[in-house]
Amino acid sequence: MPDLSPAASPTALRPITCYRCGHSAPVSVKAMSVFCKKCQQRLVLEDLRITGSHPGRELTTCGNVIIESSAKLHIQRVVGENVLVRGRVVATIVARGVLEIARDGCVEGDVEAARVVIREGATVRGRCKIVAPPQPEPPPEPPAPPPQSELPVEASAVAVDAPAIPPASSLPPPPTILTRPKLD
Ligand SMILES: [Zn+2]
Repeated sequence: MPDLSPAASPTALRPITCYRCGHSAPVSVKAMSVFCKKCQQRLVLEDLRITGSHPGRELTTCGNVIIESSAKLHIQRVVGENVLVRGRVVATIVARGVLEIARDGCVEGDVEAARVVIREGATVRGRCKIVAPPQPEPPPEPPAPPPQSELPVEASAVAVDAPAIPPASSLPPPPTILTRPKLD
């Protein structure tokens, strides 16, 4: 039996941008990770919340990253859609959307985001770069439709006063007139 529950909608998609090669593609909203079709790298899609340290060199996701006030991160790179820093981070931070450094947040490293919000009391030691948000690859252009008039034409409202001529087939056949020579 197929699962027909309405909650499981495998067709729901959201656009993601590969944080390794920049390739954009729609993925299922339910996917937790996906392989980029272009660079074949595995991409993390889920939101990450860091409360302590992180064992790897990178913290990368297409989702959001929250670095809580209890966190002490010392890694190379943090990449996410939106990044919120409440704790201490020594790393380069790249956010495709908004990077927010909260009141007690502390970042040592260069930061790059479409929008950077630094709250009063936050510390940033590094360069700050504001970049335009990535533009999704435009879908292939359909062929341009022929130019149309500005006003919509309501075909149903156009009354055609057709002359009341019945179709020829409904006319009676013309009378056949036989003429006989007069017999005198
Ligand atoms: Zn890629």
